Amino acid sequence: MTEKTPLRLFNSLTRELETFQPIHEGEARVYTCGPTVYNYQHIGNMRAYIFADTLGRTLTHKGYKLTHVINITDVGHLTSDADAGDDKMEKAAAREGKSAWDIARHYQEVFEADLERLNVRKPAHPRATDYVESMIEWAKQIEDKHCYLLESGLYFDVSTVPDYGRLARAVTDEGERRIDEVEGKRNAADFAIWRKTPPGETRQMEWDSPWGMGAPGWHLECSVMSAELLGHPFDIHTGGIDHREIHHPNEIAQNQAHNCSADSGARIWMHNNFLVDRRGKMSKSSGEFLTLQALVDKGFHPLAYRMMCLQAHYRSELEFTWEGLEAALTRLKRMVMSVERLADAPASGSTDHPKLQPALAKFGAAISDDLNTPIALTALEEVLATKKIDPAAKRAAIEEMDAVLGLDLFGLTRKDLRIRPKGAQITEEDIEDALARRKAARAEKDFATSDAIREELAAKGVEVMDGDPLGWEWKLS
Ligand code: AMP
Ligand code: ZN
Repeated sequence: MTEKTPLRLFNSLTRELETFQPIHEGEARVYTCGPTVYNYQHIGNMRAYIFADTLGRTLTHKGYKLTHVINITDVGHLTSDADAGDDKMEKAAAREGKSAWDIARHYQEVFEADLERLNVRKPAHPRATDYVESMIEWAKQIEDKHCYLLESGLYFDVSTVPDYGRLARAVTDEGERRIDEVEGKRNAADFAIWRKTPPGETRQMEWDSPWGMGAPGWHLECSVMSAELLGHPFDIHTGGIDHREIHHPNEIAQNQAHNCSADSGARIWMHNNFLVDRRGKMSKSSGEFLTLQALVDKGFHPLAYRMMCLQAHYRSELEFTWEGLEAALTRLKRMVMSVERLADAPASGSTDHPKLQPALAKFGAAISDDLNTPIALTALEEVLATKKIDPAAKRAAIEEMDAVLGLDLFGLTRKDLRIRPKGAQITEEDIEDALARRKAARAEKDFATSDAIREELAAKGVEVMDGDPLGWEWKLS
């Protein structure tokens, strides 16, 4: 079914909700800034991709043919936004005793596996290193009017484009504080288009160019790849809210220069807010960060994290706590158990049932209102709670909603959600086996054996949950 309510999205450029109008009839083209693959992604980064995937799923639900690109930054950009510091990729290579290329491939693979575990639909994943020629061409075209050469490379002069920083709403003072100097920069916010390899050095990743051996500046790749893969202007550009301040204004400046137009290059710019913990924004530079695998090692299914993200609006900060994740897991368990009862319902049902209409309407209105997933989840729960209704219709409604939310409710089982924490003493099979023996003992009113089995399990850290309202039977304590 295609959803009829007009889709309204918050555009960071205008700071207003706008009705989505595709540039190409019936199509939606979305570009999401992808990861720099020099390290593991943390769960804060993954929030950005869960958001982008929810947007993509919503556009599909609305009937648009979606083209979604998440680029892979495998060219090392620098550890500071101000074109100073070390090359991230080469630094990681030195740390791990591998080549920069191996580092990039390895972390790209881990990233893609994490996306899959979070049920993010597979978008296109072009690699920046495959587009370096196009980046050089682009730089050549803007060089005369917009760039200048310094010892360290080719720089973009931000005063040559109209209204630089409009997206960030930055005032000059802030700009000056934000970016520190490379000797000879004309404006504090000027940025590298091409970084020259310092004399006497060789980099593992470097290319020949009219400005000497070196590597493209980070911002350049997104302008070039989005133009090449989606055409300019395209519909929606997404990223984390930090990109609203520097990376995206710089992309916009390049687009304006290259396209000889004041247009930003994309119609709508959308930004997810941060995942934070008690110390503030989760970040790679802060040293300690959580990966998706760390959650799994503690016994949490990756989709419990997706649920946690969906419970907050993407424009709100989300605080990560283990209690919060536990609650999200419980909510997911309830949904999966309720859906299990529909496993035998025919899969080809129609949602056209009067009892379902209020929840479907609520769901449609919620996602159309700038992806209000917290409300959409409650609409899904209303469907799950609907009684005395044709199971095929109920199933169809749940499938339709889950196509947007991506919780894989018909694929997940109770068993999938029972992940044994790393280092647990006992396997799921042994637990199930002990529980079966206990059930048999109880059926024969042999309570001594039943109690003995319960204690045996407790000694191994498994709590048997007789009379658990969720009917979950056991948990690891
Ligand atoms: P990076 O690999 O650092 O370029 O980050 C990849 C994506 O994750 C970007 O869109 C960032 O804006 C986003 N991001 C980084 N930290 C967080 C965070 N703590 N919460 C949400 N998104 C984040
Ligand atoms: Zn980007």
